[in-house]
Amino acid sequence: MPERIPIYRPDLSGNEKAYVVDCIESSWISSIGPYVDKFERALESFTSIEHAISICNGTTALHLALHCLDIGPGDEVIVPSFTYIASVNMIALTGATPVFADCRARDWQIGPDDIAPLITSRTKAIVPVHLYGAVCDMPAIMEIAGKHGLKVIEDCAECLGASRDNVHPGGFGDIGTFSFFGNKTVTTGEGGAVVTRDPALATRMRKVKGQGQSFVRRYWHEELGFNYRMTNIAAAIGLAQLERLDDILAAKRRIAERYRTLLADAPVTFQRLDEGVVSSEWLVSCLLPRYCDRDRLMVDMAADGIETRPVFYGAHQMPMYAHLAHDHLRTTEDISARGISLPSYPQLGDADLARVVTALTRALDRQSPNLLAHVAG
Ligand SMILES: *Cc1c(COP(=O)(O)O)cnc(C)c1O
Repeated sequence: MPERIPIYRPDLSGNEKAYVVDCIESSWISSIGPYVDKFERALESFTSIEHAISICNGTTALHLALHCLDIGPGDEVIVPSFTYIASVNMIALTGATPVFADCRARDWQIGPDDIAPLITSRTKAIVPVHLYGAVCDMPAIMEIAGKHGLKVIEDCAECLGASRDNVHPGGFGDIGTFSFFGNKTVTTGEGGAVVTRDPALATRMRKVKGQGQSFVRRYWHEELGFNYRMTNIAAAIGLAQLERLDDILAAKRRIAERYRTLLADAPVTFQRLDEGVVSSEWLVSCLLPRYCDRDRLMVDMAADGIETRPVFYGAHQMPMYAHLAHDHLRTTEDISARGISLPSYPQLGDADLARVVTALTRALDRQSPNLLAHVAG
């Protein structure tokens, strides 16, 4: 039996180990230490966004961003239903009401036409989520936000390394949030960050992530705060990852290109990007044809040693959000029912990719309407 191909596996082959050993030998293992600062400066330099602040994970980064934009009870926040659940849960945690938007069939992202009809006098913010490596139409979304005086938090958990008209996502809205979980393009184990171009907002987020404590007076807490700090060990891993980010991205782009070439004649559809968008190719994902039973296809591929994942369900399908309006989420329901993600980690070689593609095509052929018609005849 050939080795199983997992959906993801981080590449830790650079300075990760040496930097972690340095943390232990120097005894700087908590959230004070030189790597935290180095990691933040490296992230600023990579994204060309002035202020980057490390956070303990991508979920708390979203909460910090919403909290520091003063979003709370009585406010409505527009968010795509097709997203990872954290984008929605953190809105609910502030006491605000998530308002679900549908997404666009061509690139699966929330678009301006999905947002405009949902705006009310209570709308306070929009949380566009850049999914599976693509980038939302931020110029159009910022235009709507400007017209209605709305704040914008970009969930960039999946799009590190992507760009739109040469701007890194997170650089369009008020705040961008990142995740550095183990399957993200850069990992720190668990980790996250917030970025902003606004120095006052950056200072507030730095304070609130550290218990709201004064920068000059110990145990004097100037406002409500949290402990959302990243450790020096996590930042050490992250710095080593950022040193190799260009190589990691190049490897992932080659993999995505290869999948699209090898599957050009298969009955699957990939995200179609807007002009000017460069994808981070986070997890290469595609939609299966409507006749296909996704669960059965995934079981068939697992039997061939290939791990796949369904794409996210619509957040409106979860029990805690079932009471919110959701009759308008047709594209979300279609994509979430038909999408799967394929193995997408940087070390995948051509032989691995060929195995994935063979397993996928065989599983698709088994469900082909032509084949069924033939058997029936
Ligand atoms: C991974 C992810 C998050 C959450 O990040 P964690 O670091 O796992 O808390 C949030 N939003 C999106 C879109 C994600 O993919």
